[in-house]
Amino acid sequence: MAFISESFVTQLKETSNIVSVISRFVPLKKAGRNFLGLCPFHQEKTPSLAVNEEKQIFHCFGCGLGGNVFTFLMHYQRLSFPEAVNELAQFLGIAVPTAVLSREQEAENRQRDELRAIHQLAADFYHRQLMSPQGGRPGREYLRRRKMTREVIEEFTLGYAPDAWDRLAQFLHQQGLDPSRIEQSGLVIRKDQGGGYDRFRNRLIFPIWDEKKRVVAFGGRTLGDENPKYLNSPESVIFNKGRSLYGLPQALPVIRQERQALIVEGYFDCLSLHLHGFKQTVATLGTALGAHQVRRLKGMAEELILVYDGDSAGRQAALRSVAIFQEEGVSARIKVLPPQADPDSYLFQVGAERFAVELRQSVPMMVFFLEQHLEGVSGDIQDRLRALEKVLPTIQSLAAAEQAYYVKLIGERLTLSETAINQMLRAKGQANPAARIAEKIKGEQVKGLEWRIIEALLRIPQAPERLLNQDLQNVMVGLEAVQVFKAITQTVKEKGALDLVWLLEGLENQTLKSRVAALALQEFIDERDQESFLQDLLKTLELRAIRRRERSLLQAIQDQERQGMTSELMALLERKQDLLKQRKQLLAPMKN
Ligand SMILES: [Zn+2]
Repeated sequence: MAFISESFVTQLKETSNIVSVISRFVPLKKAGRNFLGLCPFHQEKTPSLAVNEEKQIFHCFGCGLGGNVFTFLMHYQRLSFPEAVNELAQFLGIAVPTAVLSREQEAENRQRDELRAIHQLAADFYHRQLMSPQGGRPGREYLRRRKMTREVIEEFTLGYAPDAWDRLAQFLHQQGLDPSRIEQSGLVIRKDQGGGYDRFRNRLIFPIWDEKKRVVAFGGRTLGDENPKYLNSPESVIFNKGRSLYGLPQALPVIRQERQALIVEGYFDCLSLHLHGFKQTVATLGTALGAHQVRRLKGMAEELILVYDGDSAGRQAALRSVAIFQEEGVSARIKVLPPQADPDSYLFQVGAERFAVELRQSVPMMVFFLEQHLEGVSGDIQDRLRALEKVLPTIQSLAAAEQAYYVKLIGERLTLSETAINQMLRAKGQANPAARIAEKIKGEQVKGLEWRIIEALLRIPQAPERLLNQDLQNVMVGLEAVQVFKAITQTVKEKGALDLVWLLEGLENQTLKSRVAALALQEFIDERDQESFLQDLLKTLELRAIRRRERSLLQAIQDQERQGMTSELMALLERKQDLLKQRKQLLAPMKN
């Protein structure tokens, strides 16, 4: 919190709505008092992410993550707290006061801004080169051969890096930019004897954007015979290859609208799909599809379809991504093209209409996975068992209903009985990880009196008033309970009520944050439940107090007894009788 002005954070907390923030990334449906959606933080197929508008908190009952709007943004977009504050401010259209950032953060931001500015200048430069009547001819002719239209060229601001050593370097220096920044951009490579030369020469240029449509890198395809055929910008503070998706800002609105994303492997594949009207297409940048990229898309699309080359490298790449989809709990389908076809050429060959039909017929990821492993397995029992061994771990991670479906399918393909396959599955180990996590969380929840008190404080509006005046010193003993309890009393003191958003902000430990959110989101059936929960709790507290007094009384009685029957002893014994009566009274109505 150090560098953020408290009042600005307060302003954000009070003006933001967690439901509208989260539903930017995850479709939410109203269910009772909560909104439910598929959790983006763990693999799942049935929604366990609960978002509560009234309390302005979220919690996932699957993986246990929970907190307020900042917690969500920090985890979803992997941001620091100050970054999450900025992100939220931007979303709400509120200007961030400059004092919000520390000096280092400001320097970092400035560096990023300057690098992006250099990239934007370079993108414009390359594009102007492509469009210049003389100089841009090689690039334009190449694009004509690949059947790219003017519209696509403009939409993706394609460019051309001239066949010369330092045209971009010269241009950037003329703009009066800091030479060390230019070098940091990676677009100009420094020569030992001073000066520099352009990274991209005689190449067609594909600007790569982040999702806010800021140019952060370039891809370049050679127009000569140079190797490599494709060259990318080096990684930098603004560019991470494994996290970037080519075409994301162009595709985003359509992905959100269609609830579907197509993923291809190359720039031209991506452009070709856009050109044929499949504007929900993005491409990886010459690396295997990674978890970060899937995560980027999974909140926005219900379905991801991989469209890969028909060659064996394409099949291998598709097969590798199965594990990632599984881990991320995303339902995906795979369209593998015929051998020797790539999406770019294939679309021009079959046309958009035919391709749309084929997309609808693309196979679920798991079917593809099984086909690849079970194809060509001989009738030999050893071979069949080996094939089974290979696919079992993947089948094991599926939800029960799906598992049953695929066990049947495997049984048919390998001519093995379903019972035998199920036995092997069980032998492999117990339930899937998600179920185990859920169980763990259930086990962790509310054990003992201290957590029941915290639960009441979190869930029952009238509880703070009636519980916080009790002497709870002796009850709150566990380290974590004490932390939460302290934060609760602090919040009530400062805000005059139990404001959950504030409470969560005050807890630094994410496990505790999640736990608090989980408790706060459980619902009572009606108000009578709340009242009786509270009554029971108060009664228990009173009983404990009586027992404590009884114990110390007993000690005093034993001390007195050594001195014979005194009047003090008589008084003590009387009080003991009183306490016993009180205890009985308290216990009596509890029994019925
Ligand atoms: Zn989760």
